[in-house]
Amino acid sequence: MRDEISVLCTQHSKLFNMSYQLLDGKKISGQILAEITEEVKSIKQKGGKQPHLAAILVGADPASETYVVSKVRHCEKVGFNSTLVRYNADVTEAELLKKIQELNENKDIDGYIVQLPLPKHISERKIIEAVSPQKDVDGFHPLNVGRLTLNLPTYISATPYGIIEILKRYNIPTEGKNCVVLGRSNIVGSPVSILMARNGNPGNATVTLCHSKTKNLKEITKQADILIVAIGKPEFVTADMVKEGAVVVDVGIHRFTDSSKKSGYRLTGDVKFDEVAPKCSFITPVPGGVGLMTIAALMKNTLLACKGEIYK
Ligand code: NAP
Repeated sequence: MRDEISVLCTQHSKLFNMSYQLLDGKKISGQILAEITEEVKSIKQKGGKQPHLAAILVGADPASETYVVSKVRHCEKVGFNSTLVRYNADVTEAELLKKIQELNENKDIDGYIVQLPLPKHISERKIIEAVSPQKDVDGFHPLNVGRLTLNLPTYISATPYGIIEILKRYNIPTEGKNCVVLGRSNIVGSPVSILMARNGNPGNATVTLCHSKTKNLKEITKQADILIVAIGKPEFVTADMVKEGAVVVDVGIHRFTDSSKKSGYRLTGDVKFDEVAPKCSFITPVPGGVGLMTIAALMKNTLLACKGEIYK
């Protein structure tokens, strides 16, 4: 009897104290940026064209300003040329479309982004569709999204790229695995579900895409070998929703005031990390996970654009 209890205890502790490994976005993003820097150096040494990224920033939203400045700064770090085009928040849609036409025709600019969100009087859809698909390094143009769906070469947008690249570089097996994606947004859930299901590596997973109308969510998430969470609800995924040994990718980012922190705030994801992590084999932290991959994705797409590797 004592032996049986001891075996049960050991099994229990194995189950609930499983040591997990962090999927380190900072490390992977650093690797990618270092590879790009090397490649640009070699291109320049051979007399090739220096990649050139442009960014359009409308208005003075502090978050957008921070993102764009960081993107431009990273261009310098990897050896790209960069151009920042600024407009006041009252710029007209017509003026913006004119600039987009100019950038489409400018042979020196390989790729560019229009930082979102835009002021309400400008149609984001119109702007996204006006960007030349060849220069759409954000991967938002419908043609590039369509190419992704057809498993054709394309610019994969930042967050799905970041998720896939983390899984790839940590050698997480995906073939034949059950992958559950929580959230079906155009920028995260939908594209990542397509990438996980495509015939490729990472890929070849059996994918279930869940959204706010999904019934019996917990029963579905508990089947997941790989759980990708992008629903925008702080700490929504709890331990009872996760299978032992699962790989969990948390895309969510939420900022809360916290006077105990030096910064005055703390960040959390869509997953209740403290209770979920011990059940996982691998998990992304927040911060330090997927969010840090965004810049690397943009730099990678700009390099691909410069080399003409997507639209040959
Ligand atoms: P979003 O556009 O708000 O989409 C959320 C999705 O979650 C929707 O498909 C929604 O379903 C689904 N959903 C909401 N409540 C649900 C529930 N109770 N059960 C099941 N599904 C539910 O969000 P997003 O833009 O994809 O972003 C998601 C999170 O990731 C946010 O926290 C965002 O800040 C973060 N994010 C991070 C990065 C990064 O770089 N790390 C990038 C982008 C976003 P319906 O479609 O039915 O409404």
